[in-house]
Amino acid sequence: MLPNRPDFPMHVSVEQAREMLAALLPAPGTEIVPLGQARGRTLAADLAARVSHPSATESALDGIAARAADTLTAAAAAPVRLRVVGESRAGVPFGGTVGPGECVRIYTGAPLPRGADAICPVEQLSEDGPDHVLLARPASPGDVRHEGGDFRSGEVVLRAGQPFTPPRVALAAALGHAEVPVRGRLRVALLSTGDEVVEPGLPLRPGQVYDSNRFGLQAMLEECGCEVLALGHAPDSPEALTGAIAAAGGADVLLTSGGVSMGKYDFMRDLLLERGKVAFWKVRMRPGGPALLGGWNGLPVFGLPGNPVSSLVVFQVIVRPALTGQPVQTLRLRAATPFRGLPDKMAFWRGILREGQVHDYGKQGSGVLRSLSEANALVVVPEGGAVRAGEDVDVVLL
Ligand code: AMP
Ligand code: MG
Repeated sequence: MLPNRPDFPMHVSVEQAREMLAALLPAPGTEIVPLGQARGRTLAADLAARVSHPSATESALDGIAARAADTLTAAAAAPVRLRVVGESRAGVPFGGTVGPGECVRIYTGAPLPRGADAICPVEQLSEDGPDHVLLARPASPGDVRHEGGDFRSGEVVLRAGQPFTPPRVALAAALGHAEVPVRGRLRVALLSTGDEVVEPGLPLRPGQVYDSNRFGLQAMLEECGCEVLALGHAPDSPEALTGAIAAAGGADVLLTSGGVSMGKYDFMRDLLLERGKVAFWKVRMRPGGPALLGGWNGLPVFGLPGNPVSSLVVFQVIVRPALTGQPVQTLRLRAATPFRGLPDKMAFWRGILREGQVHDYGKQGSGVLRSLSEANALVVVPEGGAVRAGEDVDVVLL
């Protein structure tokens, strides 16, 4: 039972909830992983380039390399004629020097030969016998990629704390790193609760619901680079919950869904009150208000509400940033429709981005599961605020 005067904070702000959870998590160590396993992990140290890119000044397209000054008068009516003295291809440079009136056939990524300073694309050339070409336009210095134009050897290009997106994995490879330092993975135990919650694939009796949270949360945890200790599902009984929580022993944090609200069968809060401790209960947000933070024998426990929309939103704006150390990314966008505010809660309304504006998704009930798939944004309305159509608003992409 909730005490008359609880000795833990209630109705904390979203930011307080995030900070209190982060404070209970262990500091992540560092691991060295092969680059092929870096996707989704967080870089633990700055990464400097081991080489310059491009490693030499090279051609950006297929054509000929020439001296720009030789080609200035080239025009369709009066083409310039150049003698072909060799070839430079990617990985096999031309060894000589391009002299006046000369050129070298060159291909994308091939080093620009000595003497040449411009490229004429193959589309603007015509052959004039085996050893000569005719140019209908002046060669362009802009079709050259300069040595180190992308990055220079020794330059810090990736920073500690950046998540490894696919483009950053590619960039780390280009910098010359076969292995990279990443933050250690947090081990997160995951438990669904609820007598009515059933494994998908089994028959569903009236009043029951398939366990969508377990799958959604597991996918989100994996996306955050966490190691998931899947505890499955526990019914609504203090004994069953106690057993399930005990199984989370080796984890860094336990994430539960359901059973944190005001109902008679919501046992999580009272269990933590009696047998562990409660750090806060309830967050000033909608959806997701009843979220709970506590501890059990030194194991931090974060209780997400059972409503699938609430659990997703709480995960996105509180749990994910605490687990990854990355702030919630927001965009500032024009609201195409109004979004209402709540006097003492931060609202995260589901929205749809269309043509650079965000529209109200419509059905904002926290049980409207399909909204998780059909909406692609959360519109953030601060406590006491309201957004009129045409105003700018913060948006979290889903
Ligand atoms: P609770 O937070 O336990 O009161 O649950 C709130 C609502 O979310 C109820 O309608 C539950 O049936 C539903 N719910 C709880 N857990 C899950 C789950 N794992 N998957 C889908 N729905 C759930
Ligand atoms: Mg329940």
